[in-house]
Amino acid sequence: MIRFGPAGNSNLFYDEGNKSSLQIPQWLKQKGLTAYEYQCGRGVRVKEEFCEKLKKECQKYDIALSLHAPYFINLASTDREKLDKSIGHISKSLKAVNDMGGTKIVVHPGSAPKEEDRKEVVARAKFFLEEVLQKTKSYEHVKIGLELMGKINQLGNLAEILELCLVNPKRCIPVIDFGHLHAREHGSLNNKEEFGRVVDKIGSILGEDVVKNLHAHFSPIEFSKGGEKKHRVFADKGFGPRFEDFLPIILENNMTPTIICESSGMQTEDAIFMKNLYLQNRSD
Ligand SMILES: [Zn+2]
Repeated sequence: MIRFGPAGNSNLFYDEGNKSSLQIPQWLKQKGLTAYEYQCGRGVRVKEEFCEKLKKECQKYDIALSLHAPYFINLASTDREKLDKSIGHISKSLKAVNDMGGTKIVVHPGSAPKEEDRKEVVARAKFFLEEVLQKTKSYEHVKIGLELMGKINQLGNLAEILELCLVNPKRCIPVIDFGHLHAREHGSLNNKEEFGRVVDKIGSILGEDVVKNLHAHFSPIEFSKGGEKKHRVFADKGFGPRFEDFLPIILENNMTPTIICESSGMQTEDAIFMKNLYLQNRSD
């Protein structure tokens, strides 16, 4: 089943008088949404009791939950202390999402400074990822999603994400942020064919199952020479990518992705917009 939902709590959630994330599953259900990405970008600071309550609410209202891990992770660091901290962030994220009843975490792979050879950066990240997987074996049933990043000096273009996933395709999945891809390639997603090429590439390297159950982020984005500048909303005119161009690829390939919307402040409204477009265009 295809699922749509927001990254974190949108302005509308609070404007309508809600206060706690424990209210989110019921609220999303009322809005017709079925996915939610819990945000731990600034650190995993959730109590077990909270996680268990959230799990119950998500189960009750059929919300598929994922968790965005802290932004401080850098798989390609050369500093042992920082690598140990990254393992800590990933372990905590895995435990938290598991306690919440979720099945995936989303990780930013790290940075790739201009002055460094990218191949070496990727090699370091792959080597360290092996260690991470080794040290988090007790959560091997939870997927580690590696996010495609929007800035050129960040590790994680499409090829790099796919290569990192190949370290262990059973445990690592790509998180394809189409806004980021569009931004780092200076506007590469403008029609159905351009989306089709991305999906085909993922399929050829990681297999059709990964394509079918893709975990994606989607929102329009503003970019400059270095890539991502900021996430926009569909109501801002003149920013791509457009969901109208991705939708035919979803339908033709019978994909059932989870699509998380990161539109700035309006992630719920924009998730609903995409869901409605999907409902209007599917044939059954
Ligand atoms: Zn992210």
